Amino acid sequence: MGQSSNEQASPIQLTVDASDVARAIFWCRQSLTVEGHKGRFALTLAKWLPAYHAPRGAIDRLAGLEFRADGVACRWQRDPDDPFRIIVHLTEGARRLETTHQSLSPTQSNQGRIMVSDEILRFHWEECLLYPADAPIDEIIIEPALRLPEGWDWACALGNGAEARIGPEDGIVRFDPVDVRTLIDCPVLAGIHTHREHLDDSVTLLIAADREDQLPQNPEELECHRRLIAEADALFGHRPFEKYHFLMACSDQIGRMGLEHENCSEEGVRATYFSNWHSSTTERDLLPHEYVHAWVGKYRVPQGNFHSDFSRMTNELMWVYEGLTQYYGHVLAARCGLISQQLTREAFALIFATYDNRPGRTWRPLADTDNDPIFTAREVQPWQSWQRSEDYYSEGLLIWLEADTIIRGGTAGERSLDDLMRSFFAPDEAEPLHGRLKPRPYGRDELIEALTDVFDYDWAGFFASRVDGIAPHAPYAGIENGGYRLVWQDRPSGWQADDQTHHSYFDFSYSLGVKMGLSAKVIDVLWDGPAFKAGIVKGMEVLSVGGITYSHAAMQDAIDTCAEAGGIIDLVVKRLDRVKTITVDCPTGQRYPSLEEHGKAPRLLDAILSSRA
Ligand SMILES: [Zn+2]
Repeated sequence: MGQSSNEQASPIQLTVDASDVARAIFWCRQSLTVEGHKGRFALTLAKWLPAYHAPRGAIDRLAGLEFRADGVACRWQRDPDDPFRIIVHLTEGARRLETTHQSLSPTQSNQGRIMVSDEILRFHWEECLLYPADAPIDEIIIEPALRLPEGWDWACALGNGAEARIGPEDGIVRFDPVDVRTLIDCPVLAGIHTHREHLDDSVTLLIAADREDQLPQNPEELECHRRLIAEADALFGHRPFEKYHFLMACSDQIGRMGLEHENCSEEGVRATYFSNWHSSTTERDLLPHEYVHAWVGKYRVPQGNFHSDFSRMTNELMWVYEGLTQYYGHVLAARCGLISQQLTREAFALIFATYDNRPGRTWRPLADTDNDPIFTAREVQPWQSWQRSEDYYSEGLLIWLEADTIIRGGTAGERSLDDLMRSFFAPDEAEPLHGRLKPRPYGRDELIEALTDVFDYDWAGFFASRVDGIAPHAPYAGIENGGYRLVWQDRPSGWQADDQTHHSYFDFSYSLGVKMGLSAKVIDVLWDGPAFKAGIVKGMEVLSVGGITYSHAAMQDAIDTCAEAGGIIDLVVKRLDRVKTITVDCPTGQRYPSLEEHGKAPRLLDAILSSRA
């Protein structure tokens, strides 16, 4: 079904009352012209959402649907071929269609990511907006209006306070008309306890926290975020946006997340991100990561990710979209001082150890993990190391680290991967910056060509072996070319210790082949490791270790002294309603990965992680 010219002239009015935070219900009204349409009229909710890489639109949350054409109730039905399409049966000669419905946001985490609490609200327009199916989303114009809880501070890339009009009659924020693609890319963050920081003239950080004392207290913490913007400018040269908003929630109530958009990003971190600054280290590459996406993924977007509507999408090139972003998220975090160089090296050691000890790589090419967002939606898997799970993020990081060291080594430091970021992912100086730049889709060949312009090398072969083929080991050359080597220690590195403290787990992956979480629960088992061979599975509770009630420290002691016990550890475990004793072979003692200088080559990794701004 096409779109009549009347519709283009007359925007769809969408009004959402998002003030019902107590019940997490969004109350929605829409009004649109249907003149010229006869009989069946198809509306849809966005299905393939950019950044989710999966058909995960919130169609299941829509309820209370009612349609009236010129005041007369209309029958509706679901399209049997696509349940995201809702067919409304229009009355003869109908001119205007009014809809009312609700979008029911999760009230507990097993329903989906929590977006609404008594103190914080994340609002996504796509969860409420029904728009005509089969029309290009860039041509459907919406006039959005939103009621927020009274007195709450808020931010949205559509308009920031002064730019949006607050209706005098009803406290509703009214935004200028926008197309569907833009609207859906401009979520809202609102909260009671907030801090607004202008990182420069064009980049704003809005922080909403569970409590007032969880907002930033120390200027140096915000200063690192300010330096991030300067480091990104030094890296990319030019910005693809005019203004940018970080929408950051520090909360243990609202779901943790990182979601990229063209002019903003959404970050959900632990409530103690600022208030326990010294242990939040391992969350601090999140803002750099999402910011890099404005260039990598949003402005330069893989072809399959960019279509004229949200009814389809493909996920190729995720090792670029996420892998390169993961690499520069860490690199920028180090360059701006959010994470020290030492901790960044320890992070790279852990990433290498994780992926090198992932037996799934012996049967599944990295490129195939592009499909994981569709398969698993980040649900917990029984055997992650055998199944693999969105490995393109961090294994992608190792591939791009290697590429960076090849360029630096091959040009005696004259050129680097930074040159690709500027030449391929950033707009030309000539491009005018009024609002949003049109995204520029790209394919693999174009990327390889641009990389070859930076440094002449067999990049096609390089990626084919690391991305498309079975690679029995994770890429190590970047670490070695970088001047370091992997070493095993008997205590966790600073990075690993921080992560364990912040996220309440302990990692025995490289000794027993098991990760332990809260309440003595097994949260991961390494495929084919000692725990796997003994029959331990995810979800088991470990009641005792060597006859002593389980604690992480008791497990460490048992591993340290297991040689005296004949190289075995006895565990009493509980799964479902059965309790049993399991004997695990423990040949190695405690092992945790780190990096140390090997002293042979120039330390390229130090150069990569050094400030440029
Ligand atoms: Zn990402």
